[in-house]
Amino acid sequence: MSRIRARFWDPAGKRYGIPTYPWRMSPPHLMTLRQLTAAGLRPGGQGVQAQVLWRSRRYGAPGVRAAYLYDVRFALPKRTATPRQRDALAKANAARRTCPDCGRDAGYVLPRHLGICLDCAGDCAA
Ligand SMILES: [Zn+2]
Repeated sequence: MSRIRARFWDPAGKRYGIPTYPWRMSPPHLMTLRQLTAAGLRPGGQGVQAQVLWRSRRYGAPGVRAAYLYDVRFALPKRTATPRQRDALAKANAARRTCPDCGRDAGYVLPRHLGICLDCAGDCAA
């Protein structure tokens, strides 16, 4: 193992406080947020479990960079709306399109400053 690798090799977290691995050396069950998202997962309340440290020579941001890792075993599926939630959303949106004056679904969200559909607002103006 090269010297630079050994520097960031700390699976027990003795040096860095949390388990630390060099670039490409982390165990497969630890994933970045981006990797979790790509797999349809979210951290699910767990904190950062480990980190990957590497030395970057990128212009403008040289130095040691870190990527935080989460444990897939604690990860949960990404939240999707339940049928009841979708129902409530549909109702709320319908309410925003329904004119209180004529009671019709205008087909668009009513302008806030009018509070009624454009037809009724036109009648008022006339
Ligand atoms: Zn109306």
